[in-house]
Amino acid sequence: MMQTTAIVVGAGHAGLAMSRRLTERSIDHVVLERGEVANSWRTQRWPSLRLLTPNWQTRLPGHDYAGDDPDGYMPAADVAATLTAYARLVGAPVRTLTTVQALRAGPRGFEIRAGDDLLRARAVVLATGACTRPAIPGIADAVPPSVTTLTPLDYRDSGQLPDGGVLVVGASATGVQLAGEIHRSGRPVTLAVGEHVRLPRSYRGRDIFWWLEATGLLAERYDEIDDLTRARHLPSPQLTGTPEAVTTDLNTLTAQGIRIVGRLGRITDGVAQFSGALANTCALADLKMNRFLNRADQWAAASGLDGQLPPPHRYAPTRVDPRTPLELDLTSGEITTVLWATGFRPDHCWLDIPVRDRTGRIRHDGGVVTGAPGLYVLGLPVLRTRASTYIHGAAADSGALADHLHSYLSSRRR
Ligand SMILES: Cc1cc2nc3c(=O)[nH]c(=O)nc-3n(C[C@H](O)[C@H](O)[C@H](O)COP(=O)(O)OP(=O)(O)OC[C@H]3O[C@@H](n4cnc5c(N)ncnc54)[C@H](O)[C@@H]3O)c2cc1C
Repeated sequence: MMQTTAIVVGAGHAGLAMSRRLTERSIDHVVLERGEVANSWRTQRWPSLRLLTPNWQTRLPGHDYAGDDPDGYMPAADVAATLTAYARLVGAPVRTLTTVQALRAGPRGFEIRAGDDLLRARAVVLATGACTRPAIPGIADAVPPSVTTLTPLDYRDSGQLPDGGVLVVGASATGVQLAGEIHRSGRPVTLAVGEHVRLPRSYRGRDIFWWLEATGLLAERYDEIDDLTRARHLPSPQLTGTPEAVTTDLNTLTAQGIRIVGRLGRITDGVAQFSGALANTCALADLKMNRFLNRADQWAAASGLDGQLPPPHRYAPTRVDPRTPLELDLTSGEITTVLWATGFRPDHCWLDIPVRDRTGRIRHDGGVVTGAPGLYVLGLPVLRTRASTYIHGAAADSGALADHLHSYLSSRRR
């Protein structure tokens, strides 16, 4: 039995940032990690993945990007290396190869079971990641058995796919990136497009993340957002990080020869049926992109930056072929693989404390778990601000939650 003041579960960027914050506050703690530091980036991301956030934005408490390519986009292996170096820098007390199997209320806080070990702590921070499991729709069960199915967590490279056509379901960051990569391998690709967030890679000479930060959008607080549930479930922006910093939108994918179809709604008797609202879906995404670009232009004008930036401009609307098919027979042999790029979800099923709603998601107020004093969660989308969805958001979030945790421990001592 081990007793410590606080336990952090997960040694990704969020858990490591929290470790640094606890050390700053002299709070004795241990970080439990089922694999190695940055396990997700080592084992759950496909090798060609690059961050869609620019390198300069990979900021953590006590760490700023210091490499020679601040405007580049880090490959997954470099993210793992960066986090490993960060763990050393902050002296994070990580116990690797330690899978937490259960967390329950204990005599003076919490009890954690990890293999044969039992650990006790007054406070626990869950930093096990927002993207641990694929979110696959129920219709996946109706895919004919002759078709190979896989998720981005299984995908490594196009060589693992059988020959033949690929249906990529979902056109957010993962879907557009993998659709492009698989198409370059010579396989015909069909991309099923539901609601998406269209953004250009750069605008008026600056990366789009520069604009998202400069305009204050990423700093919007969770308790100031009108529809927080929706904000937390928004698809990731249709962006890729490539050395050439190119925009990857539906127009560029169509020009490369990828066929776009509407949202996959049903599969009946092996026939995939797509929504007929593709043109509307795309028009809405174009409208929202232009709304943000208007905000960017207004901000630039109000900040006196107009003279220093190239002039405002707009992008071509998304082109949708009116002959887009509404059905595709998955038994015909045309499609040999379906790739579910339909999002990810966290996995907190090992919690033996009633803090989850009926969908399995943790109820929390900006990371302070509801109904379980001393329990915190970090690294979820729009946890405290819109930036929480991204690596750099953990800097402020971990600071705020460590302050709360510190006050909680002090109040218990009193
Ligand atoms: C495909 C993809 C691309 C992304 N691209 C970007 C990007 O460009 N820029 C950006 O800012 N963000 C990006 N993100 C989002 C986000 O930054 C990552 O999901 C990030 O890995 C989350 O960090 P984390 O520390 O919260 O979780 P993780 O990195 O997932 O770390 C959680 C850790 O907890 C461990 N763990 C889980 N369960 C247990 C358990 N029961 N016991 C012990 N250990 C456990 C895991 O092994 C893991 O090491 C991307 C996410 C995905 C999926």
